[in-house]
Amino acid sequence: MQSPEKEKFRDSIGTINEEGKRAWIFPKKPSGKWYQYRKYVSYFLLAFLVAAPFVKINGNQFLMFNILERRFNIFSFPFWPQDFHLFVISMIIGVIFITLFTVAFGRIFCGWICPQTIFLEMVFRRIEFWIDGDRAKQIKLAKQEWHAEKIRKRLLKWSIFLIISFLISNVFLAYLIGGDKVIQYVVEGPAEHLSTLFPLGIFTAVFYFVFAWFREQVCIIACPYGRLQGVLLDNKSIVVAYDYKRGESENGRKKWRKGEDREALGHGDCIDCAQCVHVCPTGIDIRNGTQLECVNCTACIDECDTIMEKVGLEKGLIRYASEDEIEKKEPFKLTARMKGYIAVLIILTGVLTGMLFLRNDVEARVLRLPGQLFEHKENNIISNVFTFKLVNKTSKEIDDVSFKLRTYKGNIKLVSTQEDFIVPAQGLAEGTMFIEINKSDLNGDKNKLMIEVYSGDKLIETTTVNFLGPRSYN
Ligand code: SF4
Ligand code: SF4
Repeated sequence: MQSPEKEKFRDSIGTINEEGKRAWIFPKKPSGKWYQYRKYVSYFLLAFLVAAPFVKINGNQFLMFNILERRFNIFSFPFWPQDFHLFVISMIIGVIFITLFTVAFGRIFCGWICPQTIFLEMVFRRIEFWIDGDRAKQIKLAKQEWHAEKIRKRLLKWSIFLIISFLISNVFLAYLIGGDKVIQYVVEGPAEHLSTLFPLGIFTAVFYFVFAWFREQVCIIACPYGRLQGVLLDNKSIVVAYDYKRGESENGRKKWRKGEDREALGHGDCIDCAQCVHVCPTGIDIRNGTQLECVNCTACIDECDTIMEKVGLEKGLIRYASEDEIEKKEPFKLTARMKGYIAVLIILTGVLTGMLFLRNDVEARVLRLPGQLFEHKENNIISNVFTFKLVNKTSKEIDDVSFKLRTYKGNIKLVSTQEDFIVPAQGLAEGTMFIEINKSDLNGDKNKLMIEVYSGDKLIETTTVNFLGPRSYN
């Protein structure tokens, strides 16, 4: 445990200065083994993120979150409002998976997978390095007067940021309303779809604000997942950590002096070069310990490794490690908490898989018309009126659809709908039907009927309804 004085850094965040104003971060351009790995992962994820709303499997968009129509596709599995329970289970699985990952590997999700980090560090920041140069040049440019070079660089950078924000907005829209629709709107031209242009403009403005100005504040201030860190992490979680035992030794860190015997002087391996601080995109000093600002981006690992190599010391002064590994040299092992999360995850995944396999492609709902009881017609016929709704969750049209009664003899008459109709792909068919049964065939005033739904000769769904008759029918 550090002294209160040393813990003082926790009273403020790295991106706000003592006057409470925004302290702009000018991180050094990262380089090294981990950064290279992260680049590869980012390229894959960027391609995935952009392609997912436009790729289809079995005619279903790979990922879609159509909140307005309450239709969701996850890995091409369509979820309708009727499947809300499945959607909720999928979301719970996602949350537990991320929780388990956080307990075991800290904020690895933030540094490697989160779209905010990927877009900021791998797209916008790299454009900034390309136009403004590395850290020192950026600081110099920020201090400069608004002369021609600064105006040119700023205009170029902001224009590119705006274009990319607009492109991201289009992809975002494709997740919301469907990739096909976005392509259709683009082909037909914006003039035809002015009502869509407005939300697109708002999305663009939000993305531009986030990536051009708000930046790392999203991870530090706005993101609820970052806040959860304090609850989820423990001494066994693997995080980006500074090996303070090695770095500080008995007499603390000290600047590098050639030929000096640091071991004999009791100084640690940290040569206090501050490169790990300069490279950090959230402006923290990892040597202070695990902090909520750290997004586990690994930039400080690479930077410190480069320094260690230069001065001939062993790499890994900053590395992926748990507190217990640094303090007690304990290797990583699964804790009871992690085992608990894994067990819950396996159970929920099993439940979801079972439910997905048992789920029908067609869902039928037949409901009594509100306020209607029954009608006693000629020849002792009792008639009840119902509304029906058939949801087709597949990407293929279902044709030749008809209803039959299973448990009772009787007739089903559809109102204003053909006897064999069509349910469009990913759509629904609804209407009204009369069911007529001879009074002598009924078993009281309440009769449970099973209705079968056919496509041609193929039974595709069954549902039950209550059929009302007279209380006494003898
Ligand atoms: S980069 Fe490494 S050596 Fe330099 S200050 Fe950071 S921890 Fe110490
Ligand atoms: S402390 Fe290191 S890992 Fe954490 S955000 Fe800063 S550079 Fe990235």
